[in-house]
Amino acid sequence: MRINLPLHVQQIIHTLEEYGYEAYAVGGCVRDSLLGRRPQDWDITTSAKPEQVKALFMHTIDTGIEHGTVTIMMERTAYEVTTYRIDGEYEDARHPKEVTFTADLYEDLRRRDFTINAMAYNETHGLVDAFDGIKDLHEGCIRCVGDPRERFTEDALRMLRAVRFAAQLGFTVEESTRQAIRALAGTIEKVSAERIQMELGKLLVSAHPQEIRMAYELGLTNVFLPEFDVMMQSEQRSRHHMYTVGEHTIHALMNIRADKVLRLSMLLHDVAKPACETIDADGNAHYKGHPQVGAKMAEEILHRLKYDNATIDQVCRMIRYHDDRPQLSERTVRRAMNRIGTENLPLLFEIKRADILAQSLYEREEKLAYVDTYEALYKQILSQGDCVTKKDLAVNGKDLIAMGMKPGPQIGAVIDELLEIVMDDPTQNTKENLLVLAHKIRTPFI
Ligand code: ATP
Ligand code: MG
Repeated sequence: MRINLPLHVQQIIHTLEEYGYEAYAVGGCVRDSLLGRRPQDWDITTSAKPEQVKALFMHTIDTGIEHGTVTIMMERTAYEVTTYRIDGEYEDARHPKEVTFTADLYEDLRRRDFTINAMAYNETHGLVDAFDGIKDLHEGCIRCVGDPRERFTEDALRMLRAVRFAAQLGFTVEESTRQAIRALAGTIEKVSAERIQMELGKLLVSAHPQEIRMAYELGLTNVFLPEFDVMMQSEQRSRHHMYTVGEHTIHALMNIRADKVLRLSMLLHDVAKPACETIDADGNAHYKGHPQVGAKMAEEILHRLKYDNATIDQVCRMIRYHDDRPQLSERTVRRAMNRIGTENLPLLFEIKRADILAQSLYEREEKLAYVDTYEALYKQILSQGDCVTKKDLAVNGKDLIAMGMKPGPQIGAVIDELLEIVMDDPTQNTKENLLVLAHKIRTPFI
């Protein structure tokens, strides 16, 4: 079994070996190389202590010295080199209370979560696979190293990691590992939101985001995203739909490009449907106001999961407008561009299409044709260079002051009115014309 180690990794390993230490590429990079996937990053495990590693390389950063990790910079690429270690007892299913360094590679591999993540490789010794990781890799199986209950009790995040790896690799979770998750799912409550966000994020942008269903079935989402469980349990009595809110959401996730904002938007676009449901006299469900309420709920959820403000803003905007359906004319689409933000519309079109394709076949062609026309109008307006925001207007506040207006809030009101005029009729957007109009707006009775 041969792996092509990148030059930098070979250099780091050779240097450590020259000085009498052992060193191996380990974990995700070995797993991904064996699968023919491009590793995200290359981690190295070594018998050398952090101080000994630091002494051998020019540019190092103390990333997590107390846990044995030193980052080595090689031509701007970072490599994490971690000393063989045994994780002590875990506190609150979160952090190891202490780590002990060891001279034994086997001990280091044994602390790792899954067999496919517990393999090491170097050119001197080839592949070290003490827990049959290769077999599980061939079988497409996520299996804990050792007793799953013990391993999940040490660190509850591993339960979500199991689902995340299944989603990334298209693997199944081995039965006793799965049973242990079912039994211990509630304990993920103790894990920090930051760590959960990281794994949930990777699950969502993976090749198989539908595996969020497994996180639901095993009881994990119930702890950190109970809103998803409510969606999974909400039927939709509407001819537009054929799935529960949750299954519709899962299909929409599968229909959209693997991008953080898009996948999060799809995950939460209908989060408020259960709360907004009303049933009419004929027994049909309606969900009036769910995009607005959903945007608010999503804000809370994403805040709780410690997402950054830029992501929260963008996702909430997508949710607020996912069902926005302006009448299709140049004037109304210019207004939509103003309302939603020109740069956000391409994402919104993707969301609308993914949403429609996860609904029933009822009027599907018409719904898709609507989005096509919407997008065509949007592109036409862009190519015309029509004004859709204040900053595209041929006059600004300074021009109005120069014309003799007093600085103050009324300038803003005049600008707003000019923008309305120009969005109706782009030919009005000349400085000369707008100054005349501004004058009229300011003195309406003359
Ligand atoms: P990715 O492609 O996301 O980087 P990865 O397998 O490299 O996947 P990381 O989270 O970067 O995952 O962790 C690197 C390695 O460290 C893992 O392959 C595994 O061996 C070990 N590891 C990481 N987190 C844990 C954990 N919570 N418990 C046990 N071992 C872990
Ligand atoms: Mg990694």
